[in-house]
Amino acid sequence: MTTTQPTTRPGVPTNAVDPSTLHCPGCMTPVTCAPPETWTATAGAAPLFSHADRSVLCPDPRGRISEPVELETAS
Ligand SMILES: [Zn+2]
Repeated sequence: MTTTQPTTRPGVPTNAVDPSTLHCPGCMTPVTCAPPETWTATAGAAPLFSHADRSVLCPDPRGRISEPVELETAS
């Protein structure tokens, strides 16, 4: 008997987006697909993304950690 596990998890974006096009909505610098290095467990669940230097993404005007935005990178 086989069970089928859903491949998508709540809150996790699908892989349709190229991570290299994701940028912090605050400072518009590229993000990395890793939790911030400075995140502490007491702050709750770690975000999925951080700045390239592994710092927390810039918060939005309400002080919440934003989701990265997808920007087309002109080459
Ligand atoms: Zn930022």
